[in-house]
Amino acid sequence: MSALNEKVVVITGASSGIGEATARLLASMGVHLVIGARRMERLEALASDILSDGGSVVVQQLDVTELEQMQAIIRLAQSRFGRVDAIVNNAGVMPLSPLEALKIEEWNRMIDVNIRGVLHGIASGLPVMKKQGCGHFINIASTGAYEVSPTAAVYCATKYAVRAITDGLRQETVGQDIRVTLLSPGVTESELADSITDNDAREFMKEYRRTALPATAIARAIVYALEQPENTDVSEVVIKPMV
Ligand code: NDP
Repeated sequence: MSALNEKVVVITGASSGIGEATARLLASMGVHLVIGARRMERLEALASDILSDGGSVVVQQLDVTELEQMQAIIRLAQSRFGRVDAIVNNAGVMPLSPLEALKIEEWNRMIDVNIRGVLHGIASGLPVMKKQGCGHFINIASTGAYEVSPTAAVYCATKYAVRAITDGLRQETVGQDIRVTLLSPGVTESELADSITDNDAREFMKEYRRTALPATAIARAIVYALEQPENTDVSEVVIKPMV
């Protein structure tokens, strides 16, 4: 039996890409899943697949930029499954563009989803985990949390912020049996680039994404971090395609 059997895991941004692949893999390992995103029809289709394969899942519409919605999905996990063993703060957006294009609404959206969304996950989950005396945050950053590239200044800034916040959380939860993992994927197959409105950035990403890893590669790394014994903290994982 899997070490994750009967664990309760909340995943944000589970309607596509890495979140969806992670939900499918964890469900096959006996995890009780609580999955959120804005597109309910995608979540419901995923849940229907998981349930028909004998898995355990509940769905809730979630906009991570709204603290109350994040708190509500954590309450749902508690009421349906009694606890929250882990939160995968995965929801993210990446409308890349050069700074001079002044796509200010897109900058703000990245800040709101990628930074505030993660903070809302922490704000909602940390009190619960402290009360339980254990828990695990897995925050999805990016290789862009380590290195900036043209058209990605704001996206990378949000991921640098996720890295800083995650590091701070780890330092502040020492001795509390709360584990904190920063997981940074390189280019991965998903819908992430679909929101790019800048033509040059879109063309560049098309080429760049040719080497993309399947989303299951990131899902397996999430499982690795979750599966470790309670005295083992997987602090940072960077996963890149071989080139
Ligand atoms: P996808 O676009 O496929 O998935 C992003 C998910 O985030 C979707 O489920 C989307 O669902 C959700 N989401 C977006 N905005 C919100 C919101 N406001 N509230 C709740 N959910 C939201 O891309 P990926 O799977 O690639 O992205 C997952 C994470 O991985 C992101 O944090 C991304 O930055 C990171 N990443 C991805 C890389 C890649 O190359 N794919 C590389 C490095 C990092 P919905 O629209 O239904 O709300």
